[in-house]
Amino acid sequence: MTPVDLARLAARLPARPFTRFAPGPTGYLHLGHAANAVWVWGLARALGGRVLLRVEDHDRGRCRREYEVALLEDLEWLGLEPDAGAPDELRAGRSELRQSDAGPVYEAALTRLRAGGSVFACDCSRKDLAEVEGDLPNQETRYPGRCRHRGLAAAAGRGLRLRLEPGVEQFMDARLGRQSQDPAAQCGDLLLRDRLEQWTYQFAVAVDDLRHGIDLVVRGDDLLASTGRQIRLGRLLGRPAPAVYLHHPLIRKPGGEKLSKSSGDTGLRELRAAGITPAQALGRAAYLTGLQAHPAPVAAGDLAKLFGAG
Ligand SMILES: [Zn+2]
Repeated sequence: MTPVDLARLAARLPARPFTRFAPGPTGYLHLGHAANAVWVWGLARALGGRVLLRVEDHDRGRCRREYEVALLEDLEWLGLEPDAGAPDELRAGRSELRQSDAGPVYEAALTRLRAGGSVFACDCSRKDLAEVEGDLPNQETRYPGRCRHRGLAAAAGRGLRLRLEPGVEQFMDARLGRQSQDPAAQCGDLLLRDRLEQWTYQFAVAVDDLRHGIDLVVRGDDLLASTGRQIRLGRLLGRPAPAVYLHHPLIRKPGGEKLSKSSGDTGLRELRAAGITPAQALGRAAYLTGLQAHPAPVAAGDLAKLFGAG
C-alpha cells in the first residue's frame, strides 16, 4: 500500500494537469528540490499530465547563471525531463521561461492592475516596516498601509504595491483540505515591484502561472500562506479560475529548520560525489516527504508508482 491515496487525491486534481517545476537559481539544488521534483513529476506522470520547467530568477541580486546551468545538469542527472521549457532552449537563451527574460510580460500585467486604480508607490524601507511591526521572528511583516494615501509618484528608488481589500480567499488544498486566508490581514498591501525595480516573487509567480496556463501547482508547505494572495492576484489579472494547489511536506533538519542552499550534506552534487545514485536520491527524497515507508531507490521513470499508478 502506498502512503498516498491517489484515488482520494485525484478527485481533487485536474485530469491531465499542466504543472511546473520552478526553482530559483540562487544556489545548488539539494534534497528538498529533489523532493519537490518527485511530487511534481510523480503526480504529473500518474495523472497523464505535463511538467514545465521555469527558471524563477526574478531576484537579480541573488540569482546566478552558473546555478541555472548547474540545475539543468542536476535534473538531467536525476533523469527528470520537462515536457516544456526544454533545457536546450534555456541554454540557447531562446526561451520565455526565464523570469529575467519576461520583463514586458510583467509590465503588461502591472498596466492591467494599474487600470484598476489600486496600485500605489511606496518608499518604505525594510527597516521602516520592521520598526512599525516590531519585527517578530518567524512572523510575516504586514505592510501597515503607510504610503496608501500619500499619492507618491512612481519613481526610481520607490516600490509599487497593490492595495488589497479585506476578504477571505477559500481554496481546497488537494492534500491538506479546505483553507481560508485573508491576504490583507496576512501581509497587507502586496509589493509588486521592489525599490530596486525587481518584480517580487508573489507577483511574478501569479503572472507566470496565468500566462503559462498552469492548472496544478505542487510545492512545499512553506508556501501555503502565499496561496491566497496568489489566487487573489490571478483573479485581478483576469484568470477565470485559480489553479489547483497541492502543498507537500518539506524535508526538515533534525532541529526542524528547512534545508537551505548551503545545506552541504544534502546537496545533490555532494550526494553524487559520495556515490549516491539518482534512484537512491529520489527514493530518499520520497521517503523523507512521506511517499514511501522506507528509503528504497526509485528511478525517475517509476515516480508515478509512488502515487499508486502503474
Ligand atoms: Zn510604504
